[in-house]
Amino acid sequence: TWGAVRQELLKAVGQSNFTNWIEPLEFAEVQDGVAFFNVPTPFMGNWVSRHFGDRILAEISKAGEDVRRIEFNVRSSAAAPHPASQRPAAASPEAAASAADPAPASDDTDLPGAPLDSRFTFDSFVVGKPNELAHAAARRVAEGGPVAFNPLFLYGGVGLGKTHLMHAIAWELQARQPELRVLYLSAEQFMYRFIQALRERQMMDFKQMFRSVDVLMVDDVQFIAGKDSTQEEFFHTFNALVDQRKQIIISADRAPGEIEQMEGRIVSRMQSGLVVDLHPTSYELRLGILQQKVEQYRGQFPNIQLTDGVLEFLAHRITSNVRVLEGALTRLFAFGSLVGRPIDMDLAQECLTDILRTMDRKTTIDEIQRKVCDHYNIRISDMVGPKRQRALARPRQIAMYLCKHMTQRSLPEIGRKFGGRDHTTIMHGIKRIEELKGTDSAIAEDIEMLRRSLEA
Ligand code: ADP
Ligand code: MG
Repeated sequence: TWGAVRQELLKAVGQSNFTNWIEPLEFAEVQDGVAFFNVPTPFMGNWVSRHFGDRILAEISKAGEDVRRIEFNVRSSAAAPHPASQRPAAASPEAAASAADPAPASDDTDLPGAPLDSRFTFDSFVVGKPNELAHAAARRVAEGGPVAFNPLFLYGGVGLGKTHLMHAIAWELQARQPELRVLYLSAEQFMYRFIQALRERQMMDFKQMFRSVDVLMVDDVQFIAGKDSTQEEFFHTFNALVDQRKQIIISADRAPGEIEQMEGRIVSRMQSGLVVDLHPTSYELRLGILQQKVEQYRGQFPNIQLTDGVLEFLAHRITSNVRVLEGALTRLFAFGSLVGRPIDMDLAQECLTDILRTMDRKTTIDEIQRKVCDHYNIRISDMVGPKRQRALARPRQIAMYLCKHMTQRSLPEIGRKFGGRDHTTIMHGIKRIEELKGTDSAIAEDIEMLRRSLEA
């Protein structure tokens, strides 16, 4: 039967999945409704179980076997599969634990990839001027075909749709080419997998897995900045895939060259394909996104009334981050339906005070410089100018420090606002203040006061 089941699986999962994952499986036996397979590595057992377990089970059942579950066991060597007696008995987990290198299908080691959010598709992505280039590039990559830009590097501030676009690409690729092995994960997960592989001495599996995908997507790559060995491994993975002409898609919160403590060779690799950014949203885009959300909510809350002007108000006031914008709308619908009130300006003002207040409080580098100059009674031109005497340098460093802690700007961006200073100068200034804060209470108090007045 297994022979016939294999034929069906080949049709179902496609040639490349079949070769990679099904072919190496060795059918052992069926006992008490459990089908046992031998696999070469624990990783493989997990992967197959997660990705193809249901499929395999379904095909076995179709073939007329009475099987309720499948289990994967690691064979110690291809030539000597586990004799049945060594196989962990299904009824006794202790046996499994004591068997050499077991990989029960229930083992909960993390998936190599992160799950994709079903809401993040191209259909639900609203296109406007600020994101049209990124969207077009993502579309192009999602069409598959010959690798056009490699890597595709998407960057932009928090909540502007990077993750949404990456998931959309993954969904689209998977829909067009089901046999394609698309791996999406965050840079943080990449690091954890890497460390775990090191710890468990499974670097071979790790490398093999990452080098065998067709499309690798790494979200928020800035996370591995300063993490040297992870960067090293990422670099090699990256090169191996590019050499095989596999597609790589990366996102970050800033441009490759602005990620501090990212190795030069990785930066230049990331710049070697297409780098596109998602600009801060425009009023029109925000309104478009809200209107699309409202359409979705109409189905969920058919009886709720939405007064004209509310969406415009939200699009006007909540400017930073689409996630916050969506959260505000969700809250309005939830609240409106709970208390049975229409969604109007009163409700918006009432339910969203906290969000609206933070919006008003968004601090900019300019504001910080102005405040600090006022406080120390110096000129802006001196703050950003080249003079180095202490009476100017100290306030300048304090302003740098506040910019770092109160805005989302990167060091190079801050440097530009300080008369084109290098990011290492900015870093040095910030370090200096961090030291002084601990020893000089006058400075610590000044900073607290400035911070509070900037936040007010
Ligand atoms: P990022 O990864 O850039 O921080 P996300 O992709 O997680 O941002 O987006 C945050 C939220 O905003 C998600 O719910 C996403 O669906 C939504 N969003 C962002 N941009 C758009 C857009 N252009 N159209 C529709 N929804 C969007
Ligand atoms: Mg994201």
